[in-house]
Amino acid sequence: MDATARAAIVTDVAGPVDVRDYPLPRPGTGEFVLKVELCGMCGTDAHIYRGRLASVRFPALLGHEIVGTLAALGEGVTTDHAGRPVSVGDRVGVFPSLSCGRCYDCQVRRRPGNCPDRRPSYGFASPADRPPHLTGGFATHLYASNAGTVFYRTGLPPEVAVLQEPLSVALHGVERSAIRIGSTVVVQGAGAIGLMAVAAARTAGAARIVAVGAPGARLELAARLGADAVVGLGDGPEKRRQEIFDALGRDGADAVIGTAGSPEAFREALGLVADGGVLAELGNFTDRGAIPFNPYSDLLKRDITIAGVYGAGPDMQRRYHEALTILERGGRPYEQVVSHRLPLGRVREALEALGGGYALDGRDVVKLAIDPTA
Ligand SMILES: [Zn+2]
Ligand SMILES: [Zn+2]
Repeated sequence: MDATARAAIVTDVAGPVDVRDYPLPRPGTGEFVLKVELCGMCGTDAHIYRGRLASVRFPALLGHEIVGTLAALGEGVTTDHAGRPVSVGDRVGVFPSLSCGRCYDCQVRRRPGNCPDRRPSYGFASPADRPPHLTGGFATHLYASNAGTVFYRTGLPPEVAVLQEPLSVALHGVERSAIRIGSTVVVQGAGAIGLMAVAAARTAGAARIVAVGAPGARLELAARLGADAVVGLGDGPEKRRQEIFDALGRDGADAVIGTAGSPEAFREALGLVADGGVLAELGNFTDRGAIPFNPYSDLLKRDITIAGVYGAGPDMQRRYHEALTILERGGRPYEQVVSHRLPLGRVREALEALGGGYALDGRDVVKLAIDPTA
C-alpha cells in the first residue's frame, strides 16, 4: 500500500482548495483503506462549499459518492454487505454514513438516517486538519475509519458505479411517486437526479415519460435513458405546461417527479399532476423559500398526493444495493452521464461550476466527477 495520500481540502467557506499530503493509516478492526478511483460531485458539495451546511466545519474534505478499489483490509473485513467475499484490489461502492443498527430509530422505526448515534458521514466529517484526515472522496485514498462501513463489490466501470448514489435517490422518488405499469410520468429537471429518475421510472414500468429541463445535451441524454419525449424550458410556465401536456397526450400525469429544486418549480410541478395523481418532490433539498399554497384547490379538490422525498430515504443501504443491481443489469447508456472527470487540482473549479453556469471546458455539465488518479 502507498505510504501517503493526497486530498483536496476546501480551506474555508468558498475559499481556496489546497491539495495536501497525509500519512496513510493501517486499518484497524472492521476498517479499510480504499484507493479512490472516482468520486461524484453533486449540489450538496456545492452547498457545503458555500457554507450552507452548518454541521460541516472548515477546512473540509468533501466527496461522498465514492468508488474505488480496496487497498488494505482491517481484521474482520472479509465480505461486502451483500455477503460476497472481498479481497484487496476489488472495486467497491461505499455508502457514506453509518448508523448504530441498535437504537429505536434504526431497529424499530427503520429510519437509520435519524439514528442519534450516527457516525460522521464520509464527505461531511470535519474539520479535515484533524485525524483521521482522509474522510472524504476528493482524495487519492479514503480511510474508512467507521468500523462496519457499508460497501458493495461491483464489476462496473467507475463512471457507472459512481451513479449509485443519485440512482438510489431517484429510486426513493419513484417508490414514493407510486409509479406502476402503465403510469404516465413527468420528470421535471434534467440534472443527474432527473436523468436517473427517467431511467428508474422506465424500469418501474411507466408507459409514457416526458422529461422537462435544460440544456439540450441533458435532454438528449434523457431520451437515451428512456424518456419518450423531452420539453425544453422555452417561454415560461404557461406555454411549457401546454407543451408537456401535448407530449404526454393528456392534461396531467399520474406521477410528477420534481427535481428542479426551486419553490417556483414546485408550484409548476403541482400544475402538472392529474387529479388523483402524485407529486414526489426531490428537488427542494435545501431551504430556498416558500410559495403560496391553497389546501382546497391545490390539494383536496384534486385528490392529489404530495410526497416529500429526502435523499435516498430511510432505507438508504437497501436502495444503494438496488441501485447498483439496476446499473449492473445495464441496457441504458449510463456511462454517458458523467460529463467531466477532473483531477484533484480542479476541485474548486468544479465546485464553482456547480454553483454557477453549469458549463466547464466549453461543455455543458451533466455530472461532474473527481478522478484522483488523473
Ligand atoms: Zn451527492
Ligand atoms: Zn441507531
